[in-house]
Amino acid sequence: MNTTTRTTGRTTQEWQAADAAHFLHPFTDFQSLAKKGARIITRAENIYLWDSDGRRILDAMSGLWCVNVGYGQRALIDAATRQLEQLPFYNAFFQTATPPAIELAELLAEVAPPGFQHVFFTGSGSEGNDTIVRMVRRYWDLLGQPQRQVIVSRRNAYHGSTMAGASLGGMEGMHAQGGLPIPGIVHIGQPYWHEHHDAPPGPGQLEAFGIEAARWLEDKIAELGAENVAAFIGEPVQGAGGVIIPPASYWPEIERICRRHGILIVSDEVICGFGRTGRWFGCETMGFAPDLMTFAKGVTSGYVPLGGVLVGERVAKVLIERGGEFAHGYTYSGHPVACAVGVANLRLIRELGLVGHVHDDVGPYLAATWRELARHPLVGSAETCGLMGALRLVRDQASGEPFPAEVEIGMVCRGHCFREGLIMRAVGDRMIVAPPLVITRAQIDEMAALVTRCLDLTLADARREGWLR
Ligand SMILES: *Cc1c(COP(=O)(O)O)cnc(C)c1O
Repeated sequence: MNTTTRTTGRTTQEWQAADAAHFLHPFTDFQSLAKKGARIITRAENIYLWDSDGRRILDAMSGLWCVNVGYGQRALIDAATRQLEQLPFYNAFFQTATPPAIELAELLAEVAPPGFQHVFFTGSGSEGNDTIVRMVRRYWDLLGQPQRQVIVSRRNAYHGSTMAGASLGGMEGMHAQGGLPIPGIVHIGQPYWHEHHDAPPGPGQLEAFGIEAARWLEDKIAELGAENVAAFIGEPVQGAGGVIIPPASYWPEIERICRRHGILIVSDEVICGFGRTGRWFGCETMGFAPDLMTFAKGVTSGYVPLGGVLVGERVAKVLIERGGEFAHGYTYSGHPVACAVGVANLRLIRELGLVGHVHDDVGPYLAATWRELARHPLVGSAETCGLMGALRLVRDQASGEPFPAEVEIGMVCRGHCFREGLIMRAVGDRMIVAPPLVITRAQIDEMAALVTRCLDLTLADARREGWLR
């Protein structure tokens, strides 16, 4: 029996029928999925996936921004297997611990920027951000400032899908379902130039815009009263929002504003962490020093679920020294199998030198590739940060005029990507990639050829349908 039949066992149509009958997918229109049928992914290796029809697909999204070391890494598989055999589960409540959780906490403190010596484990990024909300409020309570409750985030941010995660996030479609945001969470605008301008920025304009966007925080603090503001949270680079890379001036100005008002800074590193931006953490690339960092996804390269919060000394000191019990935790906080995979993953990232590989080699190579793609007539702007890239599709390259929203140009392009064997994500008019960090230059060339082909097919559609200027 070959691997494909062993792992699938049924025909594609059979899988799709059972899927539609029973499986409610996340972020999915159930009826339209049932009509089309899900694509069934059955195996993977390196940066490639195979579906149940045996078609090979280049995964330019690393699963869901998480498979940093690529698929099929023996060290991670062995670490999970060994730990499953030795001790598949024990909790970290009631003054107990397991070696993998201790080792991972120690290793995270090693790779984190200076001042991060403590870790709180969760099962996911969303739970990490729920932990953030409870932890920063607890911090201010312990300091005798219980009125410091409000957490400021940004519109079009993504911080997860639990009640607190979705509230911290700035996705209107999510807030519209279920009475969100929860109290004490407010949003300012995102540092996205093209939300305000069609044409690309002229000399100096982007830096000025970065300062302006950071000052929206200062305005919000003035409105709320600094004495009521607990923390500011942001992704160094917004991922799910469409790979929104802030101007270099933005984060240092945010940091200055927070420091002036004593407000905690939370860096949501769920996507940016573990080498994605060419440093271990995105805050290092963006040039700021947070007090707390949420992590998940790349910590295990997605092989098993794990998340958590890296707690800087300012907060850790108060929690520990003034503490008493922090009444918070999850059954799977410090899950030994997940942590064993995390340890193997971080060691492998080190051994393979993946952070340097992104910083010095494939990151710059992706940037150069993207500069080439910027010449394609559909592309209005092309941006990268480390191994994240975005192409903004426009109706008219000269003016940067966007397509009318009802054209759904990103979805048109994404449809071609699906058919051509490329996983690239569409966020409105932005086509984005975040491939595994193990990608090579030759594989970036292969990805770029597929992207070009899909852009050509999308352009042909636009011509035929009369969508262009
Ligand atoms: C994916 C993501 C989350 C949520 O993580 P889950 O593991 O899906 O709960 C939080 N923050 C950011 C920035 C993310 O990209």
